[in-house]
Amino acid sequence: MMGYKREELIGKEQTEVPKSDKNKADLLDTINSFIKKGKEWQGMYYGRKRNGDSVQQNVKITPVIGQGGKIRHYVSIKRPCNENKSDKSHLCDRVQAESQTDVHTCKHKDRRKSSDVRSNTSRGSDGSSQPRRSSIARIHSMTIEAPITKVINIINVAQESSSEPVAEALDRVLEILRTTELYSPQLGSKEDDPHASDLVDGLMSDGLRRLSGNEYIFTKNAHTIHSHFHIPVSLHDIPPRITESMENEDCWDFDIFELEAATHKRPLVYLGLKTFSRFGVCEFLNCSESVLRSWLQVIEANYHSSNSYHNSTHSADVLHATAYFLCKERVKQSLDRTDEVAALIAATVHDVDHPGRTNSFLCNAGSELALLYNDTAVLESHHAALAFQLTTRDDKCNIFKNMERNEYRTLRQAIIDMVLATEMTKHFEHVNKFVNSINKPLAGLEDNGSGNSGINEDSCNTILTSPENRTLIKRMLIKCADISNPCRPLDLCIEWAARISEEYFAQTDEEKRQGLPVVMPVFDRKTCSIPKSQISFIDYFVTDMFDAWDVFADLPNLIQYLAINFKYWKCLDEQKLRSLRPPEP
Ligand code: AMP
Ligand code: ZN
Repeated sequence: MMGYKREELIGKEQTEVPKSDKNKADLLDTINSFIKKGKEWQGMYYGRKRNGDSVQQNVKITPVIGQGGKIRHYVSIKRPCNENKSDKSHLCDRVQAESQTDVHTCKHKDRRKSSDVRSNTSRGSDGSSQPRRSSIARIHSMTIEAPITKVINIINVAQESSSEPVAEALDRVLEILRTTELYSPQLGSKEDDPHASDLVDGLMSDGLRRLSGNEYIFTKNAHTIHSHFHIPVSLHDIPPRITESMENEDCWDFDIFELEAATHKRPLVYLGLKTFSRFGVCEFLNCSESVLRSWLQVIEANYHSSNSYHNSTHSADVLHATAYFLCKERVKQSLDRTDEVAALIAATVHDVDHPGRTNSFLCNAGSELALLYNDTAVLESHHAALAFQLTTRDDKCNIFKNMERNEYRTLRQAIIDMVLATEMTKHFEHVNKFVNSINKPLAGLEDNGSGNSGINEDSCNTILTSPENRTLIKRMLIKCADISNPCRPLDLCIEWAARISEEYFAQTDEEKRQGLPVVMPVFDRKTCSIPKSQISFIDYFVTDMFDAWDVFADLPNLIQYLAINFKYWKCLDEQKLRSLRPPEP
């Protein structure tokens, strides 16, 4: 079109190509002011042929924005003014990709990208460039709208007016922002500590180590729906030993193992009846106590009493901690009745039908559940799904039966969200979001209010009660309840450590038996140091989370127990003991 040979143009800067003097003096500035802002420019432009003649062209220049929000290059399409508009057959020969921040003045930063685009911009299968043009426009609008793109764009703009060290620091910030795992810290020092490393990998990964072909088979009755209920009990019909063991059920020091013994390993029904009654759950759900009782029995029957840790006592323990947290002033200020009821139900069902094996194990073994849930949040998805199946399958235990449709949907959504939040791969995401969206803004209000009449109540309420923040609070609440065992009085904490260790040991035994990858090799019953494993668990998962939760909910007793327990494990470890308790004198 312009009379040049390919070799004369390829690799040249746009500025090196002679321009026509027929264009208005400020036209290039106008074009640049559009495209530098990411806007498309379209209009008449005089190009200069090789022989010096000017030729009028219809030009469209589209900035193409990369994933990071930066303008990567421009695509300009030039068409002679007299060209037959329906003839698109040689349009793409005239597509020029310009990889530069200023179409007419800047240098190419990356020539490879420029030629990539040139080849990408070739015609579609029908020979037309039209589909490609509309898809570029689509990418453009998508990347502009995503919040992360807005953040990246702001940084890009700030970089332009920054000194070199600041611009370089911002480059590093951009690198981090471009990763998808924004909330998972890179735990640098854990390489030196196999306990921490095994725990973190074992609890935080899922399908990555999957082996196919080794089917893990659940115990036969794992999915059985128990249709016959045990002898009904009512709150007014509870044996005295059980009543006694639940007397201090509203205290943190409540002994769940005493209740486990008194109820012959059925603590969930009894604690559930008492706790749900204290919170008026039946009134809220508009269901009878007998339906609630049947529901608690069905749920408890679907916990595996053969698991040393993930049995109904763990669920009762998480219910207890949840109820305790719900009574804290800040939590009461934040959550509404639906949130409270959702939290109690979620705690009750959150590990139902747990097979006593981790997600990684199920994925490695190619279990039915891992296949069903695509190696993603396998157990948590199953707990939530099964809970609703068990509940709604039979009217006799359907505690939701009398709810109005919209109320039920809100409650169901909240329960599912909380159960899924117990998945450990998202641990740091939930904790960091909570700190950033709730604790930090609240601390900001406190700083501003200091010296005056305290913090601004309205602003505080706005932070506490927005739907997004209530979701973060509920997630944090159930997560803290779920791994609160290191914050319990020492004797209880030791018992929980014994139980989880035994469950991990049993998994390692089975992995060896079946020739599966051993997910957490340090949890070998012959060699494991339980104190070391507890120190690591507390260091990596518990301390920061409970610090944040304490700042929010005010739980000095839990923090004190955590310190005592941590010291206890440290002390055993310093004596090179691997067991749960020091030997008898
Ligand atoms: P969940 O399966 O819902 O109970 O999630 C909590 C996770 O934390 C589980 O995978 C447990 O194995 C793990 N966990 C809880 N308490 C401890 C503990 N004391 N030591 C090591 N891991 C623990
Ligand atoms: Zn749990």
